[in-house]
Amino acid sequence: MTLLDSLHSLHRAAPMRIDPAVWPVTARVDVDGRLCVGGTPLCDLADQYDTPSYVIDEADFRYRARRYRTALRETRIVYAGKALRTTAVARWAADEGLGVDVCSPGELAVALRAGVDPRRIVVHGNAKTTCELREAARSGVGRIVIDSGTELAMLASQLRAPQDVLVRVTPDVDIHGHAAVTTGVTDQKFGFAIAGGDAETAVRRVLDQPMLNLVGLHFHLGSQVADAEVYAEGIRRTISLMADIRARHGVVLAELNIGGGHAVPYLAGDAELDPAVLADAVDDALDSACGAERYPRPTIVVEPGRALSARAGVTIYRVVSIKRQPGGRTFVAVDGGMGDNPRVALYGARYTVAVANRHPLGPTHPVTVVGRYCEAGDVIARDVALPMDLHPGDLLAVAGTGAYHHSMASTFNMVGRPPVIGVRDGAARVLVRRETTEDLLARDTS
Ligand SMILES: *Cc1c(COP(=O)(O)O)cnc(C)c1O
Repeated sequence: MTLLDSLHSLHRAAPMRIDPAVWPVTARVDVDGRLCVGGTPLCDLADQYDTPSYVIDEADFRYRARRYRTALRETRIVYAGKALRTTAVARWAADEGLGVDVCSPGELAVALRAGVDPRRIVVHGNAKTTCELREAARSGVGRIVIDSGTELAMLASQLRAPQDVLVRVTPDVDIHGHAAVTTGVTDQKFGFAIAGGDAETAVRRVLDQPMLNLVGLHFHLGSQVADAEVYAEGIRRTISLMADIRARHGVVLAELNIGGGHAVPYLAGDAELDPAVLADAVDDALDSACGAERYPRPTIVVEPGRALSARAGVTIYRVVSIKRQPGGRTFVAVDGGMGDNPRVALYGARYTVAVANRHPLGPTHPVTVVGRYCEAGDVIARDVALPMDLHPGDLLAVAGTGAYHHSMASTFNMVGRPPVIGVRDGAARVLVRRETTEDLLARDTS
């Protein structure tokens, strides 16, 4: 190959490598073809911290947070930390002026240890225990979102001081066909249905409890919602409920939390919910619904999780073996898998994969990237184009792994969970260390 030929093939290969829609904002390919994030080549991180590892681009997370703040100026933004929960990430969220959602005592502990102002913490969960509710209230959390009649009574009995609460309602907006997971309809476990009057009854019961200070309503429609119009419909239905509550009980609720679930792209061309488009839809819905009911505009709260953290993360894996099966499919096995990424097995999620340690020159072919776990569903990406000369020892990077990977990881097969490595301006640091076999054995006390 002449130099000119290789420059031509470089030119062909390079744009394929980093689609800015799916990779972190700082992702670059250097002259040696190495994929870099946060100013650091991923292969250097692999050498230093081993594989598999989650790499989190701090600049990407902060960039997403700022886009939300800029687009939704009058809206409070609360980071749904279950997407990616570490003290550093909670601190970045707080630094950027965001509140933090928690849905377990462990998540609350992380937020508090990170120094998040408790008043900016929102507590969720459909099965909070008495003890959890008491501890949350004692730590001074800003909002507890009530999700059942039992919880309402338990919380009221535990309080020594008034607690601001929201009631979670289901506006019955079906996002099916718009999104991956649906929670805004009535036939699922979360919330009180507006239709049929459950939500209204819950509100009345909260208003009867002097220690519960009802500040507003909450709904969450599901995940990977790309169409802003479904939030508008949710707003119209809840404003109408708020107007009914005003008529019956004489209270004006001043806060409406419309949840998260904003879609992010995992593959080139996937739909994304742009915060600016959401802002317009929210504004129009408030104008019409509040206008029609002559209801004062409530403060809107949004709770993006994935939209803030997904694209900040890439997972790096080392290729361990490559096998061509008689059916014709080529399997590329790496040193991680469903333990660090359960989303393929759970939801059939799709991912973008790139060679991270060199220019992927030459022809490509479709392969299936699989993990190292003893389970046939242990797949990372089906039918992705990777170079035909891929070989054991090459480094692969998977994009869009900053949400629901670290936080959903398991220790299946007694494989310890990967570390979370934060990168920024050419420097890397361990945010969460790798889980060792000793860690796993330490829990086995028999
Ligand atoms: C999970 C969850 C979110 C965040 O969902 P994303 O899809 O990560 O944006 C927001 N609010 C509530 C109540 C949730 O349960």
